Amino acid sequence: MPTDEKRSDVKKSELTDRPNKRRPGAQAGGLSVADSRPRVVDGFLRGARCTRCAHALSQTDVPWCPVCFGQIEPAGFSPSGSVWAATTVRMPVGRWRPPFALAYVDVDNGPRVLVHVAAEPAPHAGDRVVFDSDEAGDLVAHNATTAVTERVSR
Ligand SMILES: [Zn+2]
Repeated sequence: MPTDEKRSDVKKSELTDRPNKRRPGAQAGGLSVADSRPRVVDGFLRGARCTRCAHALSQTDVPWCPVCFGQIEPAGFSPSGSVWAATTVRMPVGRWRPPFALAYVDVDNGPRVLVHVAAEPAPHAGDRVVFDSDEAGDLVAHNATTAVTERVSR
C-alpha cells in the first residue's frame, strides 16, 4: 500500500485507519465539509419556511419540510429572540476558552438556534437576546461580552 507523505501528519481515528471525522475536512487533508451553521446575512438570519405548515428552519438547503414534507421557500428572520435554555461550558471547545455559555434561542417568529452568550452570568429562560454571526461563522449574542472577551484575550 503506497504511503502518502503529505498526509502522514493527519490524525487518524483510534478505531479505524480513516481520518478522524471530528477534524475539519479540508484542513485535515480530507474532503471539504459543508458548514451547516445558521448565518446572519445583511441583518437577517437566513433560513426557510414551509409553504404548507409555516414551520421555520434555520437551514437553507433542506429539500422539504421535516414536519409535513411540504415545499419550503427561503426566509429571513430578525436575529433576536428569547432564550429557551442556556448552559455555561467549563472546558475548552475548539477556539472557545472556558467559561463560555451557549443558549438555545427561540427566534421571534422563527426557528430555534444555538447562540454563544455571556457566561457570567448565563442568561435565564425567557431572557431577550440579539445576535449576529461573528467572523468565524458562529452566532454570538451582542451582549456576550464575557464570552467574547475571554476568547479574544487568549
Ligand atoms: Zn411543513
